[in-house]
Amino acid sequence: MKEFNYIIIGGGCAGLSLAYELEINDKLKDKTLAIIETREEYKRDKTWSFWKVFNHNFDDCVIKSWNNFTINTSENSHELTNKKFPYQSINSGKFYKKINSRLSKNPNVFFLKSLKEINSENSIIFNSLFNRKLDKSELWQHFQGIEIETPTNIFDEEIFNLMDFNCDQRNDVHFFYTLPFNKNKALIETTWLSNLEDESLKDYDLQLENYIKNNLGIKNYKINFTEKGAIPLFYPLLENDNKVINIGSAGGMTRLSTGYTFLNIQEHSKYIVKNIEKINKVKKFNLGKKYQFLDRIFLKVLEKHPEKMPKIFFNMFKSSSNTIIKFLSNKSNLVEDISIIGKMPKLIFLKALFY
Ligand SMILES: Cc1cc2nc3c(=O)[nH]c(=O)nc-3n(C[C@H](O)[C@H](O)[C@H](O)COP(=O)(O)OP(=O)(O)OC[C@H]3O[C@@H](n4cnc5c(N)ncnc54)[C@H](O)[C@@H]3O)c2cc1C
Repeated sequence: MKEFNYIIIGGGCAGLSLAYELEINDKLKDKTLAIIETREEYKRDKTWSFWKVFNHNFDDCVIKSWNNFTINTSENSHELTNKKFPYQSINSGKFYKKINSRLSKNPNVFFLKSLKEINSENSIIFNSLFNRKLDKSELWQHFQGIEIETPTNIFDEEIFNLMDFNCDQRNDVHFFYTLPFNKNKALIETTWLSNLEDESLKDYDLQLENYIKNNLGIKNYKINFTEKGAIPLFYPLLENDNKVINIGSAGGMTRLSTGYTFLNIQEHSKYIVKNIEKINKVKKFNLGKKYQFLDRIFLKVLEKHPEKMPKIFFNMFKSSSNTIIKFLSNKSNLVEDISIIGKMPKLIFLKALFY
């Protein structure tokens, strides 16, 4: 049976990001890598967006960057500008192509369909798969997005809408998200924060159709691309195997209050590669205990008081744009944390600490 120095299980965002980071840092010159991936072909399946709070390897896969964004409820609208940390959207199709074309030039890198083909006893294993079925009754961020194209110029491409709560909440938390890639092309997503059991929330097509027609006032458009997903807003307990290093969503790289994962995956990949020679001995990478604690309280409030969330989110964004962006990107300092916490309704959050 074949043996490899490194094995990456799942060649998605985290698996490929790690493989690329190993490759560009010359860690695969005299080491072999097997990537276990079941998909038959790589094509655009997601749009990864985030505030660029540090440099990453994929600027050439960015569809668009913005310095301005809005957030609104049915009553209020707020606009923020930030020149220091642009918000970027990455085309996953370009990302897969860039990485796979680089890896294909290295004869030490192999793509395989199953771990059964390998003797993994002496390998360092990086795993990006959840090894059990996740609980649908927990809290999830589930959504569907469509990239639409209009025959005339309609969108203001300089500003995107992060959260529009001016929509039917149905006793959960619901918002739309609009990323105008240019004047006549935009990705529009309907997003829910709820459990996954309530099928009635999943009429995404109809939600998008109504929103585009009634809120955006667009009657004529075609759909170029559709993406759909559900991000667990909880950390599932994975079997504790010291030999395996979990990466990606399965490795706890999702920020639970927001679903943002992409840039955390990049940071984790850099950490692994920097420590690759002693990876089983170094401290396990995490997003910061502070954020795990604060997000847990935030999500408790969200589950107990979904009706209050549009206002709570809206008020959070009344901070300076640097502060809120750094907070949501796990890069805030204590003063910035206090400034965000100060915007929360005190009694509700204090109660959440104790129940
Ligand atoms: C539609 C969508 C949009 C998102 N948008 C954003 C965003 O804007 N910003 C952000 O920060 N995060 C976003 N996320 C969250 C997160 O960044 C992505 O889910 C990201 O892809 C997670 O990377 P991953 O490697 O953990 O999982 P994946 O990218 O899903 O990779 C897992 C890989 O494992 C493969 N696989 C599955 N089963 C097996 C098996 N049995 N054996 C071998 N391989 C297998 C899959 O084919 C896949 O390639 C989004 C998620 C989704 C679903």
